[in-house]
Amino acid sequence: MDEIKIRKGFFRPVCNESEIERIFSVSNASDYLLKIRAETIVDHMRLFRVYRNKAIRNEGKWSLENSFDPSHFREFIRYLDPGLKAVCTNVCYGNMFSNDPNGSVFKTDYGPIITISDSLKFFFKFMHLTLLNFEDEVPENIRWNSLRIAIRVMLKTEALDFFMDPRGILPESIAKAIHAPIPNQMLFIAGHEFAHYVLGHLSESDTVAKPIFFAISSDEDDYKPMKAYNSSQKQELEADVQSLLLPKFGAKELKGLFEAALLWFGCLELYEAVCNAMWPRSPWAYRTHPTARERYENLLMSVPSPPDFSLEAWKNFPRQIDHIKSLLLEDVSVNIDAYETYGSAYLDEPNTEWRGPELIDRVDYY
Ligand SMILES: [Zn+2]
Repeated sequence: MDEIKIRKGFFRPVCNESEIERIFSVSNASDYLLKIRAETIVDHMRLFRVYRNKAIRNEGKWSLENSFDPSHFREFIRYLDPGLKAVCTNVCYGNMFSNDPNGSVFKTDYGPIITISDSLKFFFKFMHLTLLNFEDEVPENIRWNSLRIAIRVMLKTEALDFFMDPRGILPESIAKAIHAPIPNQMLFIAGHEFAHYVLGHLSESDTVAKPIFFAISSDEDDYKPMKAYNSSQKQELEADVQSLLLPKFGAKELKGLFEAALLWFGCLELYEAVCNAMWPRSPWAYRTHPTARERYENLLMSVPSPPDFSLEAWKNFPRQIDHIKSLLLEDVSVNIDAYETYGSAYLDEPNTEWRGPELIDRVDYY
């Protein structure tokens, strides 16, 4: 067997045949995005295992490309004026895996590619269980364990096999509530990257090498540095505001999106705090990104409040974040293993109300 054949074989468990051909003879930005997605999965055993399972379950109709949901990008475009709609429809976009919670615009030979991390969906779900106000319906230890899972998702120490092993059992109303803001949060992050694109923030001369996965420890290397467009602090703040204002949302949609964006910055601030505390060099140092708190305040100040928006409540939200942040940083300093150890973390001990019976890896699921 020649070398190409062997190399193609690595992709066979997670791609269909026509996708493998596209990966080995890239001719446009969509092929390139597919190649990056596939390589990231093939190079990381924990992602590979999840995707091999998904492919087996959908045998005969599996497509890696179609397994990524593009609806948040499409929703943003749908609400744009016709001129901007035409501009954004022509750019390549899609989710991929990365431990960068912000989106990116990669510069490639085939044109720009707008991406955001697919892991965010899981990060948000567990963050919301911690941050949303469920009063005493969600016990303190469940909220705490959920926060650890959320942080572990972004640090890529947590296995992403949630569809096989959901890590616990949630009452239906709570499951609904924690999922509700996610489409808007993904839309906001996608919109931020589209805003950079349409506002002319992408300077051909200002690019940085941005890895898909930042090294989590000093004995690991950054994975796959890609050429990404860089933006100034001012442009970052502008892209946040325009992600809400460029599309012509109705008052109700705008309120939902505004609140989801503010909640996202609360989530981001907690992740930033952990990264700054535990990483040997800050992954945020590669560019002059404003902090999540600065972005939060800028957004709250710059976007006119839609009807029924509770400005007072959102002005107070950072206090809740401060409180959780100080507890989280204390936990990171005394329980670092709970964040750095690869594997699966759970909402509670086995055979409890919030966990259910223990599933045995490779026995109850594979
Ligand atoms: Zn940006």
